[in-house]
Amino acid sequence: MGSEDCIFCRIVDGELPATLVREDERTIAFMDINPATRGHCLVIPKNHHDDAIAASPEDLAACAVAAGDLAGRAVERLGADGAAVVSFARPAAGQTVFHLHFHVVPRYINDGLQLPWIPQPGDPDAIAAAAKELS
Ligand code: 5GP
Ligand code: ZN
Repeated sequence: MGSEDCIFCRIVDGELPATLVREDERTIAFMDINPATRGHCLVIPKNHHDDAIAASPEDLAACAVAAGDLAGRAVERLGADGAAVVSFARPAAGQTVFHLHFHVVPRYINDGLQLPWIPQPGDPDAIAAAAKELS
């Protein structure tokens, strides 16, 4: 059941246009209107979940399968050299549309796209402490 306030539910329901590239029982995928690179698309579950934290395991799994499939298509059909598959949960992580989605961003050697963080060596004790809380 779609939400009137959710633009991605409205895309699922066909009330808003989108350029669909893939569909299965649980998911659709469509082109992002602000592509980071050529072929950037979004995979969403047909069911509304705010984000990956709130989503059911079944819909999360279905999105992951679809995202992997589209990453493969980007390499095989668009000539991408790789792909970034990423989902932001909640505003602190950069989420702006609150219906779970995975970005599939084809990556091309020398495409100039920056990662959302700059890798730097961490403090081993801090890493271990966080791991303890996550385990
Ligand atoms: P977020 O910032 O939540 O991770 O990603 C939301 C993405 O949805 C952005 O990349 C944005 O360009 C895309 N987006 C927002 N509104 C629309 C829309 O109406 N149609 C499509 N195709 N993409 C949208
Ligand atoms: Zn929704």
